[in-house]
Amino acid sequence: MEWDEASHFPVEIMPKLAEMGLLGVIFPEKYGGAGLGYIEYSITIEELARVDGSVGLIVAAHNSLCSNHIYKFGTETQKQKFLVPLARGKSIGAWSLTEPEAGSDAGGTRTTAVRNGSHWILNGAKTFTTNGRYADVCVAMAVTNREKASHGISALILEKGMAGFRPGKKENKLGMRASDTSEVIFSDCRVPGENLLGQEGEGFINSLQILDGGRISIAALALGMAQGAFEAATRYAKQRKQFGKTIGEFQAIQFKLADMATQIEAARLLVYQAAWLADRKDARFTRESSMAKLFASEIAVRVANEAVQIHGGYGFIKDYPVEKYYRDVKLCTIGEGTSEIQKLVIARQLLGKK
Ligand SMILES: Cc1cc2nc3c(=O)[nH]c(=O)nc-3n(C[C@H](O)[C@H](O)[C@H](O)COP(=O)(O)OP(=O)(O)OC[C@H]3O[C@@H](n4cnc5c(N)ncnc54)[C@H](O)[C@@H]3O)c2cc1C
Repeated sequence: MEWDEASHFPVEIMPKLAEMGLLGVIFPEKYGGAGLGYIEYSITIEELARVDGSVGLIVAAHNSLCSNHIYKFGTETQKQKFLVPLARGKSIGAWSLTEPEAGSDAGGTRTTAVRNGSHWILNGAKTFTTNGRYADVCVAMAVTNREKASHGISALILEKGMAGFRPGKKENKLGMRASDTSEVIFSDCRVPGENLLGQEGEGFINSLQILDGGRISIAALALGMAQGAFEAATRYAKQRKQFGKTIGEFQAIQFKLADMATQIEAARLLVYQAAWLADRKDARFTRESSMAKLFASEIAVRVANEAVQIHGGYGFIKDYPVEKYYRDVKLCTIGEGTSEIQKLVIARQLLGKK
């Protein structure tokens, strides 16, 4: 809560997260990771978010967006140079797709990368980059061939200190305030040719695959916060007395708790199903990860709302934790594709459309 009030990015806990292997959960040990899978990763994010959503978000963006993009599409040299320190927690990662004019429609990216001899010259600006001001490594998407539309966007790896690469405005947010959300600005930024990540022109298409995994982590983030809010509400219902009884003795409160617990359990099964599919290397899980993200984030918002309601006026006061869950959890219906976009993704899968 102190970090939230101060909008403080908790740099001091990053070495501890690294020591526990939480900054490289899904990567093999040979790349400095913990060698675990998406189920363990989901539980990691869930457990962190049960206490603090911001820490869960920092870890999620680092693992399943930035580092995973390098793991899945990087060359062996790129993995050794960038992934190993990321997975060991020696460096912090960010992933920049969203732009002011290209949010849900990320294919409308305007940032450009123009080849200049052995380098790319990057110009443009990204918005809403998680870990943006603290990142040592940033994977950014830029147009390399406008005529090829979504097959003309490439991914590039940027390093802190590169001339022409800097974070911009830090956003002042409703929730997730201890996580950093910033602009990232490129002005004539010279990126070495070897920092092209994946095939030229395939950065956007690869990003969609990265988001399949990322969405599982946002679903787990929502699930953890819902669990935390539910536990706080249950504790409170057992303590708070009105009309000579604990409020947990009123059926109206019991029914709320029963609905909350059932929704959380259903979300957990969807999250673990998507994670289980992600761990089976041969399986597609676009539909399942979008379903998990859609359902878990929407029920988490409802659960947090009910948790505040169960606390009455005290739910509105910062002395109790539910006020913060209520604010933090809203991000989960927006980040890595809004609920509306998840429905589009699910419908496309159902109808067999590209
Ligand atoms: C705290 C935070 C952290 C973030 N971290 C990152 C990050 O690390 N990296 C990154 O690249 N991005 C990040 N994002 C960006 C996030 O992914 C986008 O905000 C999100 O994808 C929505 O884009 P937008 O904000 O431009 O909204 P818009 O696309 O402008 O959407 C506005 C509304 O219109 C709806 N809408 C849009 N298109 C359609 C459609 N076709 N059909 C129906 N409804 C539609 C949306 O659902 C939404 O309700 C972050 C955002 C936040 C708030």
